[in-house]
Amino acid sequence: MSVLSVDNLRTSLVIGGVEYHALREISLSVAEGETLAVVGESGCGKSMLAMSVMGLLPSVAAITMGHVTLDAVQIEAASESVMEHIRGAKIGMVFQEPMTALNPVLTVGEQIAEPLRDHLGLSKREARKAAVALMEKVRIPAAATRYNSYPHEFSGGMRQRVVIALAIACRPRLLIADEPTTALDVTVQRQILDLLDMLRTEGKMGMLLITHNLGTVAGHADRVAVMYGGDLVESATVKELFRSPAHPYSRALLASLPRVDRDLSELASIPGRVPALINMPEGCRFIDRCPHAMERCHTMPPSVAVGESQAHSVRCWLHVQGGEDAAEG
Ligand code: SF4
Repeated sequence: MSVLSVDNLRTSLVIGGVEYHALREISLSVAEGETLAVVGESGCGKSMLAMSVMGLLPSVAAITMGHVTLDAVQIEAASESVMEHIRGAKIGMVFQEPMTALNPVLTVGEQIAEPLRDHLGLSKREARKAAVALMEKVRIPAAATRYNSYPHEFSGGMRQRVVIALAIACRPRLLIADEPTTALDVTVQRQILDLLDMLRTEGKMGMLLITHNLGTVAGHADRVAVMYGGDLVESATVKELFRSPAHPYSRALLASLPRVDRDLSELASIPGRVPALINMPEGCRFIDRCPHAMERCHTMPPSVAVGESQAHSVRCWLHVQGGEDAAEG
């Protein structure tokens, strides 16, 4: 059962009176209890996708085509008050830098208790009790005492645990984790990712895990969506993607990573860089960096199924029957 379903999504930005498509024809879904990792270099549209799902686009951006459905609610058609409730109760969010999600002048306990009162209608006393239980669940030691501590009194890893407690407080259907461990040291990264796995399974939440790190994908995701220049270029199970990547960009990403724990922002072996939004090519947006580029690639390729399972799809003319011939003919 899908918790999140994104169907033919286009998100556009207006810059200097001109409309640019920051996301083009994105379709994906996240099932209950499943983790979908979204990967790609910086500027590939991963965070724009997260913002589109959360209804938190900047004023110059809007969903201009397609649908985002979260637990039967159509996000692109929802009012701001409905979205506020959805963000508080149905979507949990964990970002790279926990301090940005926390209020420095409120105790961490008060911050966790607040949505419990606002969205679940708990009394002050009940919310305090539930907040302490949540702090224990995310393994913050001496939770009852630390309820009264301020964010600056916690380490980076403990702060991220507070943010996770806040994110799961109202038992959301979807957890969006955008580079949740990038700012943390390696041991703490593993603990936080294991904690997210445990909570996702226990709470039957779907998780959209946005990451630069292919080691995180290999160890913590069920399926993976590879993005490039605002396009979803390949979608597969983690096993299929690592075993037989089909898109030239996915292949280059994996070939560039002798060790899966390397970060995609460090890639040097794919010449060039992701084009700026105002300079995106019309057709396949990878064309300037692709060793297989051909005439046909000046038009946008369709997304087609490849391999053994229907769950593996790729957006590239090389995989369209007759695509290569037509280009050469
Ligand atoms: Fe390369 Fe063409 Fe495929 Fe794009 S569509 S990845 S340019 S072969």
